[in-house]
Amino acid sequence: MTSATAASQPATAAPSRQLHRIVVVGGGAGGLELVTRLGDRLGRHGLADIALIEKARTHLWKPLLHEVAAGSMDVGRHELDYLAQAYWHGFRFRFGEMVGLDRSQRLVHLAANFDDEGRLITPVRSIGYDTLVIAIGSVTNDFGIPGVTEHAIALDTPEQAQLFNRRLVNACLRAHTQAEPVRPGQLHVAIIGAGATGTELSAELHRTLRGVVAYGLDKIDPDKDIRITLIEAAGRVVPALPQRLSDATARLLGELGVEIRTGARVSEVRPDGVCLAGGDFIPSELVVWSAGVRGPDVLMNLAGLEASPSGQLVVRPTLQTTRDDNIFAMGDCAYLVPDSETRPIPPRAQAAHQQAAHLFRQIRRRLKGQSVEPFVYRDFGSLVSLGEFSTIGSLMGFVSGKGMLVEGFIARLMYRSLYKMHETALHGPLKVGLDTIARLLTRRTEPHVKLH
Ligand SMILES: Cc1cc2nc3c(=O)[nH]c(=O)nc-3n(C[C@H](O)[C@H](O)[C@H](O)COP(=O)(O)OP(=O)(O)OC[C@H]3O[C@@H](n4cnc5c(N)ncnc54)[C@H](O)[C@@H]3O)c2cc1C
Repeated sequence: MTSATAASQPATAAPSRQLHRIVVVGGGAGGLELVTRLGDRLGRHGLADIALIEKARTHLWKPLLHEVAAGSMDVGRHELDYLAQAYWHGFRFRFGEMVGLDRSQRLVHLAANFDDEGRLITPVRSIGYDTLVIAIGSVTNDFGIPGVTEHAIALDTPEQAQLFNRRLVNACLRAHTQAEPVRPGQLHVAIIGAGATGTELSAELHRTLRGVVAYGLDKIDPDKDIRITLIEAAGRVVPALPQRLSDATARLLGELGVEIRTGARVSEVRPDGVCLAGGDFIPSELVVWSAGVRGPDVLMNLAGLEASPSGQLVVRPTLQTTRDDNIFAMGDCAYLVPDSETRPIPPRAQAAHQQAAHLFRQIRRRLKGQSVEPFVYRDFGSLVSLGEFSTIGSLMGFVSGKGMLVEGFIARLMYRSLYKMHETALHGPLKVGLDTIARLLTRRTEPHVKLH
């Protein structure tokens, strides 16, 4: 589409009505893979009209956010521009946040967008669909604990991760230039939730904080002044992993000097630190909340679609929502308990990736008038990256269907491969190969931690 024709289209431009309209809402780990494939196979060839509705302008794979927060990743090198992706892959990008749905008219309602000066960018509008896929992910669950929203930072978006990193670097610069000695809590970070996110962040922070100080902030003594505390309500870190891995992770974190508080319930987050239910107070300038996720608020009452108590859309094994065959949900925002299981499919990138591949095939079947097949989730295991120190995890079901514990280089390779699979789904192997080489080369000429 040339810029002239794009500009002349009305905001709610309806595509040609002969074509089936497939709209994906949410261009994250799952949604962007799906819409890219649909665009390549159907949109480009005029076989269907494919659109992505997304409230952000750029995409960054969410599992990278702890690296952004710690300052070990430059967002600019990894983010993808939705407009360009849409142009290259045969779909339309509709910038905006879904705020409602009209199932009888088959319309997705979008909020208006404003720039920093309050000027309107895109108006309130509605986009029509024949098949709708909702893939808007999850948000951090604060469980109603006082002070979390005001004083803790969640890692839901690149902006939040960057904000945390800026505060971290500012705290180091302040401590280095102030006349008085570093006070207790000033360079302390409390991470609440020792799931994969919190655990990975604590190890990454240990390294990057020392990295920042090593660039000349010599008034700070990393061993004395910097403290990272990982707080977990369950009895062990990474409770979703087998005990042995959890023990190994705790041992490695302990060797790094990360303080672990398990069996500790947070009762309040204050501007100067974290209160525990038992009465303890952990002074900390910076608090990260990574203690669980729930569905985004918009799903709680979305045109009568069934939502789970955790605010996700309840879907059938076909990933169709329980009350509307034309609406699918996938990824973190979908709630599905497989027949043979007692627990729902976990909110993980590997689930979103598998569901994107599945829905791509099923939507094509649907267009041919064939039935939609059920989704079968395969748990390939879990890996936790402790930065450059180690990666450990369990890989599932390769030969015997039982878990196999892995650690070190192999585990690190497998951990990275999930991101490479995501990149390959979006760009193809050639571009991913070239990008990887380019990043390896530029990494040699740049600081390994973000200093601004
Ligand atoms: C720090 C961190 C580390 C993680 N590490 C791992 C890991 O190692 N392995 C693993 O398997 N998983 C990991 N995860 C979980 C993984 O990131 C998620 O499970 C995965 O991103 C879910 O994909 P999704 O497509 O459902 O949602 P997302 O990737 O979150 O994408 C949702 C998209 O929807 C958009 N959106 C939201 N609301 C609206 C709206 N109303 N209108 C329009 N657009 C909207 C968002 O902007 C976003 O682009 C990690 C998560 C975090 C935060």
